[in-house]
Amino acid sequence: MSNSVENPRGVEKVLRAMDTSDGAGVALRRSIGTPQLDMLDPFLMLDSLSTDKADEYIAGFPEHPHRGFETVTYMVEGAMRHQDSMGNEGILRSGGAQWMTAGSGIVHSETPEQEDGLLQGFQLWINLPAKDKMIDPRYQNMEPDELPEISPVDGAQLRLLAGSMHGATGPINGISTDPVFVDVKLEPGAKVTIPTPKGHTAVAYVFIGDAVVADKPVPTHHLAILQDGDGVTLEGGEHGGRMLVIAARPIHEQVVRYGPFVMSSKQELMQAFEDYQNGNFVRKAAS
Ligand code: MN
Repeated sequence: MSNSVENPRGVEKVLRAMDTSDGAGVALRRSIGTPQLDMLDPFLMLDSLSTDKADEYIAGFPEHPHRGFETVTYMVEGAMRHQDSMGNEGILRSGGAQWMTAGSGIVHSETPEQEDGLLQGFQLWINLPAKDKMIDPRYQNMEPDELPEISPVDGAQLRLLAGSMHGATGPINGISTDPVFVDVKLEPGAKVTIPTPKGHTAVAYVFIGDAVVADKPVPTHHLAILQDGDGVTLEGGEHGGRMLVIAARPIHEQVVRYGPFVMSSKQELMQAFEDYQNGNFVRKAAS
């Protein structure tokens, strides 16, 4: 588990996240899955939710389907209740995460489990390769204390969902795009290197304060798209900063998507609609 980075990544582009809303009127900032950045193979969408105004989140995300990809929910602050058509139910709390491989299909709802206060979190959509789109659904739920927290250098705190670095390994396993997903908190001037496999698509999203990503300043709610390399160097900005670093292997396949269905051909997409309308959508219970 070496942390030596020989070819550090540079920054290709810095994009400001776009204000939007989804579900039943939840206010979001979207940085991937927008008119300016349709997708970033294998990432289909990255939403950041951060508001203390209850009317901007209270209605949540009523029942909706997913097929053909994975959704990752990471709660920073607050709580969301998750419930699906197969009787699974759980609460995601501050610092917890859920990695859902929708595969052949799941129907679920996501509802705030609070009536006031700050709700802050993320949802990332990652594509599945064509051969895995119809696999059985799978959940990996992580309570806050199941995520390793490490401090490789003074002033740096890392929480690891997926990937290995600085002697720790995130609990997420068996994902076809071999992801890295880490929450990095840096005090002003603190510097840390995050290894990311060469060839993986990689981004850094700053959600509190500011940071210097590979020598480039990145303000709050901006996404840095990284060039290729085997790691990235991050430094806390003037007021410190907190960011997600996410990397995964690109799939390089055709993507045909509409809303919650992400398939590889028009025919598969039509099939998803048909199955949903005919009640044949959910094929296997999640395990
Ligand atoms: Mn969902």
